[in-house]
This record gives sequence, structure tokens and C-alpha cells, in this order.
Amino acid sequence: MGTIECVQGDIARQADIDAVVNAANAQLRSGGGVAGALHRAAGPGLAEECRPLAPIRPGQAVITGAHGLPNRHVIHCLGPVYGVDEPADELLAACYRNALELAEREGLRSIAFPALSAGAFGYPPAEAARVALATVLQTLPGCPGIERVRFVLFDADSTALHQRTLEALE
Ligand code: ADP
Repeated sequence: MGTIECVQGDIARQADIDAVVNAANAQLRSGGGVAGALHRAAGPGLAEECRPLAPIRPGQAVITGAHGLPNRHVIHCLGPVYGVDEPADELLAACYRNALELAEREGLRSIAFPALSAGAFGYPPAEAARVALATVLQTLPGCPGIERVRFVLFDADSTALHQRTLEALE
């Protein structure tokens, strides 16, 4: 099974990773947080490629090129808005599972995730981390081509939370 690592950093600066995952909105437009950072770094070609793929549903994952980003692809996932899209845990798990399976089908060897739904979408961070890591641990054995899964967290607290959660689940 591939390795799972949790690092502090910017999802838009993961040059050694095949696909970075976007915490997308349904319209696959730029915005705040992760989507803003990725679209800014990718340039307008990313929004253009996204337009015909939108809208997407909670739990869904779609793939595009990476344009100005230092990766091969962006995988766009729509996480659940906490308290609105139900069942939240199943929809959040579907994001991670669908993104990994899509990466596997595309022959990618490495993928980096942000903490989907844990920002503007309001998912409590500890619960989001548990769903995220449990789903990756469950799905990765079925994705033999994926050698590395990296969680990229914006701040030190979130990084420590993901590291603790991973150790508790392993
Ligand atoms: P969502 O709308 O799915 O909640 P957000 O982009 O608002 O997504 O936030 C998801 C998580 O990503 C939050 O924990 C936020 O702090 C973090 N985040 C924001 N910008 C970045 C970035 N450039 N790289 C990595 N993580 C980021």
C-alpha cells in the first residue's frame, strides 16, 4: 500500500505530486481558500476547462489539467456543506474515495489533498480529519498504482491533528 503523509504547506505548491485536489464549489469556479489558491496559481485556463464540467454534486470528483500549477492534474471535489448536505460523513468519504479511484484510473502515482469541507463549508475539523484518513486507509489498498498520498494542511494545529488521527487509525 502507498504511504500517507501529513505536511504543513500550501496545496498550490506541491511540485513533486501528480495531482492536487481542489476543495471545489459546485460551479468549479475560483473563490476563497483552496479553490482561490489553486485557480490563482493555475491561471484562467483552469476555469475555462472547468466550465463545461460544472455543476458537480457533493461527493463527486472530476479531473482537469493543471495549467500553471506544477502538477499534471487537478482533481476537483465538492465536499458537503456541514449541516446542509446529508449524510455529511458519507458525502465527505465519497470525495476522498472518488478522487483516489479517479487518480488510479488515470495512472497517477501521487495525490495531495487539502482538508476538504473543513474551511468555509464548516465541517468540524477533528471529525473531518477522521473521515478523511479512515477513507484513505480503506481505499488505498484497492489503488495499487498510487504510491503516495499527501495531506497538505495550512496551519500547525491542523497538521498535528491529522498526524495524531493517522497514528490512531493505523
Ligand atoms: P471548503 O469550502 O471545502 O471548506 P476551504 O478552501 O474553505 O474548503 O478550506 C479547506 C481547508 O483548507 C481549511 O482547513 C483551510 O484552512 C485550508 N486551506 C486554505 N487555503 C489553503 C491552501 N492554499 N493550501 C492548503 N490548505 C488550505
